[in-house]
Amino acid sequence: MSRTVSVFIRRDAQPVFPDRCVVCDGVHPEHRATLFAAEMRSGHSFVGGAYSFKVPCCVRCALRLHVSRVLIGWAPLLIVGAGLALLIYLQPMTKAAGPISWFAGALGVVALVILRGAFPQRIAVEPRDDLVSFEFRDPDLAAEFRQLNPGN
Ligand SMILES: [Zn+2]
Repeated sequence: MSRTVSVFIRRDAQPVFPDRCVVCDGVHPEHRATLFAAEMRSGHSFVGGAYSFKVPCCVRCALRLHVSRVLIGWAPLLIVGAGLALLIYLQPMTKAAGPISWFAGALGVVALVILRGAFPQRIAVEPRDDLVSFEFRDPDLAAEFRQLNPGN
């Protein structure tokens, strides 16, 4: 697992990112993608605790960015749902429905781990009460982000 660098900014401040695409590092991407980060702590709902912010991103990279974030956030639930659906579908046909469904779920988890390794997120975000934690895989990007968000 690679190291990340955390930068904290106030939750009420809009984060300012360097004018480079957060996916491919291309300069002046001329597009912004809106990202959401849910607060998954007790007392916060997925919708009520959501934090949104905009990042510079090429138009062509935006789809990749959103797909990778969906994979990170929703894939485990989708794998469990698909496994249960497969179990329900196969149960009337075979006594091996349980093992087949578990095996399919295990394959889904392996595929998810491989995809996450192949397309790691450059930025992870975790909203808290008064602060938001931005975790960067690129220490240079983290340093630039810290300089652009002084006093936060
Ligand atoms: Zn890009």
